[in-house]
Amino acid sequence: MTTGSIDLVAGRACGGCTVCCSVMAIDKPDIQKEAGVPCRHCAQGCAIYAARPQLCRDYHCGWRQLPMLDESWRPDRSGVFVEVESLEGETTITLVLIGNPLKTVRQPWFQDFVITGVRGHVPLQLGITGPPGHQGAALPLNTSEMFEAAGVSRAKVKELLEKELKRLSAHDFPRRVIANTGHDFGAPG
Ligand code: SF4
Ligand code: SF4
Repeated sequence: MTTGSIDLVAGRACGGCTVCCSVMAIDKPDIQKEAGVPCRHCAQGCAIYAARPQLCRDYHCGWRQLPMLDESWRPDRSGVFVEVESLEGETTITLVLIGNPLKTVRQPWFQDFVITGVRGHVPLQLGITGPPGHQGAALPLNTSEMFEAAGVSRAKVKELLEKELKRLSAHDFPRRVIANTGHDFGAPG
């Protein structure tokens, strides 16, 4: 999860999107929620916006941060929830498929993004969500096979993406244990 002081795309707002309020597991002292369970305050936006927890104030998905993603990449429209993680000086972009994963990997715009990223040596991962209450899974896309495919054709990239998606779908999604208690935002109020 990316929070804190980050650069956001100027003029870009969440609008009617509430994807992160459902997809993510949250485990903080002032807010807990299982993955894949909508926050109970999530309606057309946040029903407690002015009083929302600090984590919610600080969090922004990749679409809010990356100018290379145009308006059509808003998570609720694209079916792709982009996560940006910075670890030991390296930034990884995870493309979490939240809508119809197979349909998404078959889209030319999605394949083009992967081709550009892989050829540009941008660390990319393909991810899917698990069942509610479970962790999702992700696989790196910067493989030599994908790099080679990116130099050949979209069709080759599509074929590999479908293969990776099949591998991800067969994952044994572990249960995500929520350690904090007392502020369960997933439960009915
Ligand atoms: S997923 Fe991104 S665009 Fe959607 S509500 Fe969360 S931060 Fe905003
Ligand atoms: S409290 Fe946080 S998780 Fe819940 S709807 Fe508001 S912003 Fe989303």
